[in-house]
Amino acid sequence: MSKKPTNEEHCSFCGRPASQAGMLLSGLNGYICADCSHQAEHIFKEQNLHIQNPKFEIKQSDIPLPSDIKQFLDQYVIGQDAAKKVMSVAVYNHYKRLRYNAEHGEKNDVEIEKSNIVMVGETGTGKTLLARTIAKLLKVPFCIADATTLTEAGYVGDDVENVLVRLLQAADYDVAACERGIVFIDEIDKIARKSENTSITRDVSGEGVQQALLKLLEGAIVSVPPEGGRKHPEQKLIQVNTRNILFICGGAFDGVERAIASRMKTNIIGFNGDQTRSSIDRNNMLQYVQPMDLKKFGLIPELVGRFPVLTHLEPLNHEALRRILTEPKNALIKQYQELFKMDDIQLQIAPEVLDLVVDRAVTYKLGARGLRSIMESIMTDLMFDLPSMKKGSTYTLTRETAEAKLHI
Ligand code: ADP
Repeated sequence: MSKKPTNEEHCSFCGRPASQAGMLLSGLNGYICADCSHQAEHIFKEQNLHIQNPKFEIKQSDIPLPSDIKQFLDQYVIGQDAAKKVMSVAVYNHYKRLRYNAEHGEKNDVEIEKSNIVMVGETGTGKTLLARTIAKLLKVPFCIADATTLTEAGYVGDDVENVLVRLLQAADYDVAACERGIVFIDEIDKIARKSENTSITRDVSGEGVQQALLKLLEGAIVSVPPEGGRKHPEQKLIQVNTRNILFICGGAFDGVERAIASRMKTNIIGFNGDQTRSSIDRNNMLQYVQPMDLKKFGLIPELVGRFPVLTHLEPLNHEALRRILTEPKNALIKQYQELFKMDDIQLQIAPEVLDLVVDRAVTYKLGARGLRSIMESIMTDLMFDLPSMKKGSTYTLTRETAEAKLHI
């Protein structure tokens, strides 16, 4: 007679008794056998390694063509065609490179290198706006970091790796997506060393940050503290491979024009000098920027070498600033009109007001950044008074009123 123990323990997952499943581990309300716990471990590992966020799944049909990217940028950014084209191609190639690496794995015959980008342009000409706008279109995580807050490890400020913390957060901690992301580093010119010749004046802070950044750009496996801040020994670190992360940097490089001008003068001697020289547009020297000028400015050669794509932004003239006020999808004037519409009031702005605002912005030399503060000075009183106006009415802002608000 077979004797079945009535109180034999069973695995709560597969139901097998201890006599078949072997040793069982007990929990509060049940048991688990070795097989089931192995399987559980496997499932957990798989889940953790491949938490894929559908937001970042790239399908071939999602990849926008360079012309699509440019068209999208045109809706938000006025002018800057050269930079838009360069960005559109770089982003398209970024996608292609990701696909190539995914298809060929480590065994690629041809290594398609990253095309990290540097944008040089005066403040308020649209560098950050370009980067932000492109991010709206992309299906890869994107973050903006400010180079001025970065310091070498061990100094007060952000470690360079913290740039990746932001990217990881933008990727909702999906490491694989983070490793395909794009980082925009603003004010890269602020970490330039002060002199090209290190032996005379050592400017450790700037150069140290550049060296640290170089490591990220080159492609390295970096340990990132998931919550940011300084690393400490007990902290859990996440490994991020930066090989496929695209870096876009922006900077005003104030004064780089001098380096460009002196290089061009020496270059053109002997080449039909006078003619070439007369065709140089001295008001917009940034359009001739070359990697060697950035070196002269104080970026270390290795870093410059890691940015194969160099582009410039045009200074914004009167016409461009006027278009910025009214044309982009989220133009300032449209924003004010929407605000008033919510109070059921139609806001009309006389064209002369726009000219006045643009003239002021040109005088302040703040690029498009000045437009907002000038408009605010004009609009604050109106925004205070208008909501109490009769619903359904129309208000026309005239140049006289605008001048009075600006105390002209
Ligand atoms: P920076 O070149 O200093 O990064 P930003 O991109 O931050 O300048 O520009 C500041 C603001 O000025 C933007 O938020 C945007 O409203 C406006 N702006 C600047 N350039 C342009 C442009 N080319 N087209 C439309 N708006 C612009």
